[in-house]
Amino acid sequence: MTLVKKTRFCKFIRDRLCFLANRQRGAYVHLTLPPSSIPLFSETVDWVVRDLKKLRGIIVSGTTAESLQDSFAYTTCDRQKLKELITLKADEYGWQLFPLNQPKVNQFLFDPKHAIREPGACSLAKRVKSLDFQGKSVGKCIFRDSADCSTCACNLTALTRSVRQVDWATIKGLITSFYG
Ligand code: SF4
Repeated sequence: MTLVKKTRFCKFIRDRLCFLANRQRGAYVHLTLPPSSIPLFSETVDWVVRDLKKLRGIIVSGTTAESLQDSFAYTTCDRQKLKELITLKADEYGWQLFPLNQPKVNQFLFDPKHAIREPGACSLAKRVKSLDFQGKSVGKCIFRDSADCSTCACNLTALTRSVRQVDWATIKGLITSFYG
């Protein structure tokens, strides 16, 4: 690279970093819903879109329980219902409102055939160590060892699976949420 090209490249990077640092960035809302709150999803999205200033997007997860019998463990029916509601709101506001809940992510998150049964099958647990404030491991994942994987409705597990399958809508949503 010539000196002129190097200088131009450095200037481009510096300008881009200044642009990102100086502008007023908005916030993402992460909705982690227990099954009992699913009926409120639609009106909550409307409220967030209408009343939250500088909203950049909404991320949706479900709760993760210690057993399928827990009151906040998702049933297959709950998963399908929430998936349908996200799709309905995306049709209304655009999929850019849900950058980390693109259709492929939602398939992994909510379709029974993609359910994770144990941490060895969890792309998140295999790659990320969850530590306490002393730097000691808290267990297999952020939800600790007591969490029952078959109840897991954590957005990140589905997101990492979708990225690994090189789903472009997910990758675009991820890049947008970091740099957009
Ligand atoms: S509870 Fe969820 S995040 Fe934790 S290991 Fe199981 S599937 Fe992965």
